[in-house]
Amino acid sequence: MTPRAVLVAGAVTAAVLLLWPKRATAQSKPPPPRPGTTASRATLDTLTDDTRAKARELLARFREEGIDHVVVSTLRTCAEQNRLHERGITPVRGCRSWHTHGRAIDVLAMRDGKLVHDGDDPVYERMADIARQVGMKPGADFRDPVHFEYHPNLTIQQVCPDPDACVDVEPVGLLPDDPFLLYE
Ligand SMILES: [Zn+2]
Repeated sequence: MTPRAVLVAGAVTAAVLLLWPKRATAQSKPPPPRPGTTASRATLDTLTDDTRAKARELLARFREEGIDHVVVSTLRTCAEQNRLHERGITPVRGCRSWHTHGRAIDVLAMRDGKLVHDGDDPVYERMADIARQVGMKPGADFRDPVHFEYHPNLTIQQVCPDPDACVDVEPVGLLPDDPFLLYE
């Protein structure tokens, strides 16, 4: 796999680890996501208000352009971020991830009902272009093509001088057992 494909595979693994911690066993694999949905804690409700508005704009543009997609990660707790870091899925730990501030989402493209795992697929470049147009920063700029973040006039050093001092943002709108939720 190419490095970007590994990153995309990592995002899927991260989503599975975070969203289905009790279900992801050999006996019970999570069902494939449905297009146009968010999964479990990946609700946009957990984002900051301005990020949620931007995310809705971004996803609406994806739909307008016929890009099927699934939101697989939004807010993460500090512990979740560190768990992904320890497993080598992300180089970023603690509050150095905009996910722990409710200011990032991971979105996988779908085609013919299947997740697009190849980060070099042109659909991710198109998604990055759309993100720039709506004023979000695409992770494609740093080899994380499924990641999109929004933090106008903020740097990660400002909000996170010390990754060990990560403080959980209070998640809102946590959802029931159903692993899939329409975001609209
Ligand atoms: Zn991300």
